[in-house]
Amino acid sequence: MNRPPSHRPVIVVGAGPVGMSAALSLRALGRPATVLEAGEPDRLRPGSRAIFVHRATLEVFERSSPDLARELAAHGLVWQTKRTLYAGRQVFARTYPPPEAGTLPHFTSLPQVETERHLLRACKAAGVEFVWNAEVSRACSDPAGVELTTMTGERWSADYVIAADGSRSPVRKAVGVAMAGSRSDGWYVVVDVLDDPADPLPAERVFHYAHPAAGSRNVLFVPFAGGWRVDLQLHDGDDPEDLSGGDGLRRWLRAVMPSGYADRIAWASTYQFLQVVADDLADRHRRVLFTGEAAHLFAPFGARGLNSGVPDADAAATAVHIALSTRRPARARAAVEDFSMTRRRAALFNRDAAGTALAHLRPDAAGRARLAEAARRAAHDDRLGHWLDTAPYGPRELPPGNTIYKY
Ligand SMILES: Cc1cc2nc3c(=O)[nH]c(=O)nc-3n(C[C@H](O)[C@H](O)[C@H](O)COP(=O)(O)OP(=O)(O)OC[C@H]3O[C@@H](n4cnc5c(N)ncnc54)[C@H](O)[C@@H]3O)c2cc1C
Repeated sequence: MNRPPSHRPVIVVGAGPVGMSAALSLRALGRPATVLEAGEPDRLRPGSRAIFVHRATLEVFERSSPDLARELAAHGLVWQTKRTLYAGRQVFARTYPPPEAGTLPHFTSLPQVETERHLLRACKAAGVEFVWNAEVSRACSDPAGVELTTMTGERWSADYVIAADGSRSPVRKAVGVAMAGSRSDGWYVVVDVLDDPADPLPAERVFHYAHPAAGSRNVLFVPFAGGWRVDLQLHDGDDPEDLSGGDGLRRWLRAVMPSGYADRIAWASTYQFLQVVADDLADRHRRVLFTGEAAHLFAPFGARGLNSGVPDADAAATAVHIALSTRRPARARAAVEDFSMTRRRAALFNRDAAGTALAHLRPDAAGRARLAEAARRAAHDDRLGHWLDTAPYGPRELPPGNTIYKY
């Protein structure tokens, strides 16, 4: 006989940073939270990925789990100096004072795996239920709720599901919501290099336009707690495989960093970035809410991935809380629609902002001339240096609807 599915009021699919953030926000609202995760509890996810955690993200954590934001800030690194060079010549530099004691910093820089470790600890302390090795293979929604089936045949039902199952999002696909957007043409090599205590480097974020030692390719250095993220922007016609592994990788790394760092490579990968947003951030029955990379993918310039996934998660938890608190179906539906509209608007803003950064980094002939002219005049016009420094990350404004939900 078929056993009835295990029921929960709300199920989060995916124990990445966004799923765990959603679970924490649910617990802060007094709701039980169950997370189904495909992976093992002690899985190791490669790459530093979302190293740059904005203060707005820390503020969401501060409300959902008071110690978490301070823990992340304490374990992360705040670089105080940023520099930009053009063809080897400095065109902009600024040093900021250290964060004030007792306040949250403007950002903290640490590997995503560390952020996830702290999130997991906070979730466990808050009583979140985790079900590991539970890969959801089927999702089906109707006006009354959602049914999920895992690869091992376990069935779960929920009034609401928060899908945080990453860029491939089997849940989003199962309920028939598509992504729209484009893929950037150019290739990037992204490398993590561990700190070299024998030859420490100053913790500064440094961007090179046309690095002379890297064949005039753009190179970005971002320090994080324990290491460096180095992004190399490839020229058209470069072989991504050659520059992301073995001798090819070590050769250019040796040219742009002290030689010992080329022996301290922890991870390297190649990317062509997707710039896509889901057509809707909820299913048609308004029972499944998509968050994080299940809802959108952006190029990483401007650090908009995790930093927009966390407010998605918080907004989804709030919408589900409202929907579960009312007896009026129209009110419940409106809460989910409001979530979908607001966070989709934010996602489109972020996609366009990351697109502006990508376009700046791949200029046409006129754009290249503008960059060269700005670099030439930057020594006498600080605004031009500032533009050269900030433009690779896109507009600095927060997206509309990055509301801090109060509860
Ligand atoms: C090179 C690079 C640099 C980046 N830099 C930054 C940065 O500086 N700042 C920033 O904010 N963002 C950055 N990002 C983006 C950031 O890494 C992502 O936005 C973030 O990981 C998305 O988190 P998520 O929880 O939505 O998805 P994921 O981290 O992909 O988590 C999804 C989870 O769902 C689970 N899952 C998948 N399918 C199923 C299923 N069927 N059933 C159950 N579980 C499932 C997976 O195992 C995983 O645990 C960067 C990304 C890259 C690649």
